[in-house]
Amino acid sequence: MPGLVITVCTILGLAVGSFLNVVVWRVPRKESVVRPRSRCPECEEPIRPADNVPVVSWVLLRGRCRTCGARIPVRYPLVEVGCAVLFGALAARFWDSWALPAYLVLAAALLALSVIDLEHYLLPNRIVYPLSLAVPVLLAGAAVAEGDGGALLRALLGGAVAFVAFLAIHLVSPRGMGLGDVKLSFVLGVALAWLGWRELVLGLLLGFFYGALVGVALIALRLRTRKEPVPFGPFLAAGAVTAVLWGEPILTWYLDR
Ligand SMILES: [Zn+2]
Repeated sequence: MPGLVITVCTILGLAVGSFLNVVVWRVPRKESVVRPRSRCPECEEPIRPADNVPVVSWVLLRGRCRTCGARIPVRYPLVEVGCAVLFGALAARFWDSWALPAYLVLAAALLALSVIDLEHYLLPNRIVYPLSLAVPVLLAGAAVAEGDGGALLRALLGGAVAFVAFLAIHLVSPRGMGLGDVKLSFVLGVALAWLGWRELVLGLLLGFFYGALVGVALIALRLRTRKEPVPFGPFLAAGAVTAVLWGEPILTWYLDR
């Protein structure tokens, strides 16, 4: 049974990843993600269905548009593979839980938000707001199915706690913590606290830890100066995903030493 769920979710992840590439390109440009059909940004030729197969098409086309030969960034297959791996790992973790859909939606949105934040220093409300509604609603469904109202209450409280904490940091240091990060913290808090209070603390702290680690490394390698901004969204996302996937073993390892 886990094998089947993992396989289905991994394949679903490839397809969702392909859609996320559309989201990542169009949402920051304020375009519709539904219409028109995907086209080459260079020559504007619509992409044939046969050339739109995740990963495979990119490899067969050797990363170039069939019509004009423009380079298709390696980001496209990477997002598709990344989404498939995330979905597969989440399925392995939650294959027997009704909470699986909530975490799949969260992971897909976090992947898109991370790529957009890296490129545009932006966490668009058009993604964060619907996500902040979808995850609590899906978890409410899971709470009903599993008869676990306590987890839902803890999740909502966790979202509020994370939001207030991040808002406080933003008010103290607006440059260090953007308003987009504050808005995102609510849904991260919800998803982490559904698992437990310790997961909430671990997931958020890991975000700061990753951010600090990479920030220091970039400055040490002279890739950035201290004054250049580093987007925080991808680190928050990575911290939350780490705690969702491996929170239990990490906490057990840490607390048992
Ligand atoms: Zn083209």
